[in-house]
Amino acid sequence: MKRLILLGATGSIGTQCIDVVNEHSTEFEIIAMACGSNINKLEEIMTMYPSCNYFSVKSEDDATLLSKKYSDKTFFYGMDGVSKLLDLDGDVVVNALVGFIGLEPSLKTIKRHMVLALANKESLVTGGELVKKALKEHGGTMYPIDSEHSAIFQCLQGNEKSQVHKLIISASGGSFRDKSREELVSVSVEDALNHPNWSMGKRITIDSATMMNKGFEVIEAFYLFDIDFDHIDVIINKESIIHSMVEYKDKSVIAQLGTADMRIPIQYALTYPKRLSLEQTPSLDLCKIGSLNFMEMNYERYPLLKLAFEAGKRGGNSGAILNAADEVAVDFFINKKISFLEIEDLIFKAYKEIEFISSPTFDDIKRTDQMTREYLIRSLED
Ligand code: NDP
Ligand code: MG
Repeated sequence: MKRLILLGATGSIGTQCIDVVNEHSTEFEIIAMACGSNINKLEEIMTMYPSCNYFSVKSEDDATLLSKKYSDKTFFYGMDGVSKLLDLDGDVVVNALVGFIGLEPSLKTIKRHMVLALANKESLVTGGELVKKALKEHGGTMYPIDSEHSAIFQCLQGNEKSQVHKLIISASGGSFRDKSREELVSVSVEDALNHPNWSMGKRITIDSATMMNKGFEVIEAFYLFDIDFDHIDVIINKESIIHSMVEYKDKSVIAQLGTADMRIPIQYALTYPKRLSLEQTPSLDLCKIGSLNFMEMNYERYPLLKLAFEAGKRGGNSGAILNAADEVAVDFFINKKISFLEIEDLIFKAYKEIEFISSPTFDDIKRTDQMTREYLIRSLED
């Protein structure tokens, strides 16, 4: 029985992780869960999954109320609360938090010698070097949950890494893939949240429309698979059926296919190197789909993807700048303070203006995150 600590339990990945655990209740047990402010959802999960005893929520008030209502359970709060959950005796930590706040828990998971099942790509985008260093120092283990990276991880099994020529990351193209840049001027939040293939949290859905998400995934791949940026390609597969591919030096290309259902990569990160059945996910019916469509990535159409390659190559605190700028800009867009294309403008401005640090410590990354956020807020006020 693997003991799981689930961070981000009320989110899109978190709830799908609970589905997987419920299907395999003799294999996994969730001993602790963290979430933010969606207390109704948390209470729903607690009813469905009564054996979990430790929780962390965002605010002290919610923790106090919940402690009174459920006196047999323990409730912590804030990022300190998340850290307390990581002091428990778990085997695997599923990090499905959204944003920069995921980095510190990822580092602590590694230090505590628990396996890191990573959905929080921001951990690698902002602190990839620190995560790699911690893995080396503590002999840690990390498995990807992001579907593209799970696909690549699966395509690498049984093959020599030295024979890899390039990684080919799939992109669906997001909600606006059929729109020209001119048409993007007036798109709404509601349109942007309407992803053609995947049902995900709000931020990543907007990030898919701007292609910032794919940019983050390129940086994520660089850290996960130790490959240089010139050997990472991005192509559009409209159907999100081919989740990614690896081209080997002998020109063989190995792809991983599946229905667009995150429970598949979540489960693989939990069971690797084993596979278990997954009854709740439908089989892939290629005959029904009929054809798969591919398109070359147009970097002029998606400047943030191009910027992510540049930031990835520059290294240092560049990923932290991009991520913080994106977190704030997407929040502005969702709250209708800026237009869709202004997300790009703000990120480019921050990338240009915020001081570059080539070998940042954790504190430098934290300061970069803070400075970038403040810079964006000031830019909006100007
Ligand atoms: P969601 O927005 O759906 O969920 C985020 C989770 O983080 C929620 O449980 C939320 O709690 C919690 N959270 C937010 N702020 C805090 C906080 N301050 N303290 C504690 N918990 C907090 O996001 P997703 O599930 O879509 O994404 C999670 C991560 O997985 C992201 O890094 C994303 O890029 C990555 N990912 C997601 C995919 C998907 O299909 N969704 C695919 C691949 C990667 P609450 O809601 O209670 O406030
Ligand atoms: Mg992905």
